[in-house]
Amino acid sequence: MIDLAVEHVEATVREENERTCWGCGLRLLLPSNAPVFKCGWCGAITNDHAQKRKDKSLWWRRWRDRCFVSVVSLFMLFILCGGVWAVYPVVFSISNFCGIFHSLVTAVLAVSTFTTFGLAAFRCAGRPPNIQWGSYPLVGKGHLQDYTFCLYCCKPKSPRTHHCRSCGMCIEDMDHHCPFIGNCVGATNHRHFIIFLILTLISTMYVAIMCSYAGRHIWPPPRFTSLARPHTFGSGSASRVVRELSLALLGSAMLLSTRGIILVYLIVSSVSVQIGLTVLLWQQLCYIYEGQTYLSHLSSGAGGGSGERDCRNLVRFFGCPYSFSRYLPIFRSSRKRHRI
Ligand SMILES: [Zn+2]
Ligand SMILES: [Zn+2]
Ligand SMILES: [Zn+2]
Repeated sequence: MIDLAVEHVEATVREENERTCWGCGLRLLLPSNAPVFKCGWCGAITNDHAQKRKDKSLWWRRWRDRCFVSVVSLFMLFILCGGVWAVYPVVFSISNFCGIFHSLVTAVLAVSTFTTFGLAAFRCAGRPPNIQWGSYPLVGKGHLQDYTFCLYCCKPKSPRTHHCRSCGMCIEDMDHHCPFIGNCVGATNHRHFIIFLILTLISTMYVAIMCSYAGRHIWPPPRFTSLARPHTFGSGSASRVVRELSLALLGSAMLLSTRGIILVYLIVSSVSVQIGLTVLLWQQLCYIYEGQTYLSHLSSGAGGGSGERDCRNLVRFFGCPYSFSRYLPIFRSSRKRHRI
């Protein structure tokens, strides 16, 4: 009787600790009853508590992304068309050569910026390759090392892959989901995204310079009141001088034509975009230099990533030939390279 009871308990414990690996389909006998375990054969990580998920608000996120992309496209078109309309009369009034030169610069910047925007926004960010999984003869030893199971796509997910709920799919080397391009930034379009940021920064700087130059020509001359008289200028306090200057500029701004108002708007908006883009670009280049993505930086913690800081990471990222990267300096650190 006692022997039967002991056998029953052993069988129950064995049953509780016997689990199936989703990667290779093998039944594993585990020493503990932990819900998360790693297969000793294929290396896949199984979480028994995880359940299949369905994203019900995917259509809303897609619709939001389409709206963002439309607004960004219209804004870029407005900057281009508004800038050409407001600046070109001034440029062509200087000389035809000057006009043609700036037309060529504008055309090159516009075509390259719109092309890289299209590639970053409408190209698939990085679909993971299809791999075999689920049965022992097909999956070899260590073939699914550190892979997890995506509960949305119902397929294997490598450690460098993340599921994006806005795109509704797994993205390889996902950096982040950018609402302004309505797409993820991943293995396939990361380079286009960075080149788009650089070109947009150059374009907005060019717009700000040309609009300031044209604005100087058409801005009505400011009318000073007391500042025009030397004896009042000397006796006035600093706050009074500032007030007089502000009133004079405001007075002349009231006389601005539509072209002048457009120029002021273009200068303010392009400088604002430049500030935001500079911060974003600097952050992105720092991650690439460290051999990381934004998500891998987050998962490695605020204390630092697991990549090696190396200029060659930047060279490899932009696809420059190896012969060029040989002459770049290397700044060694204790961190091991994680990506690229
Ligand atoms: Zn396995
Ligand atoms: Zn997925
Ligand atoms: Zn996404």
